[in-house]
Amino acid sequence: MRKCPNCSVDNEDNAKFCSNCGAALSNVSPAPTDIKATPAPAPTTGPGEGKVIAALILGIVSIVIAFIGIFVASFICGLIGVVCGIVGICLAASAYKNGKRGGMFIAALICSLIGLIFAAVIFIIGIIMMAAIVSAGTY
Ligand SMILES: [Zn+2]
Repeated sequence: MRKCPNCSVDNEDNAKFCSNCGAALSNVSPAPTDIKATPAPAPTTGPGEGKVIAALILGIVSIVIAFIGIFVASFICGLIGVVCGIVGICLAASAYKNGKRGGMFIAALICSLIGLIFAAVIFIIGIIMMAAIVSAGTY
């Protein structure tokens, strides 16, 4: 389309004069195509990236805390580990919704799941131990 410089009416590209007012269009170039309209490539660090890293860290933390729980404060360590594992899984799921896939996401999910299960076992052992101590104290 050629826009008339005089009355702003659109004319055919090959028109030499405006169909509305008759003004010469020869010096008016067709509307330039916007070369900047091409979309920018998707960033490699999206909102899912931070979440998946946080999920991975939480998963590892829950495993480590559960491991510590084997030796000391099983009940407390198990509880913290379970919470970290659940939050890790939630973050991994959220990252998945943000389009985060691949090895990093799988690693974060597996670490969080292992941490959650491991910590849950330690937590239950902690409860049994505490119950044993309490019942032993009543005698
Ligand atoms: Zn015109």
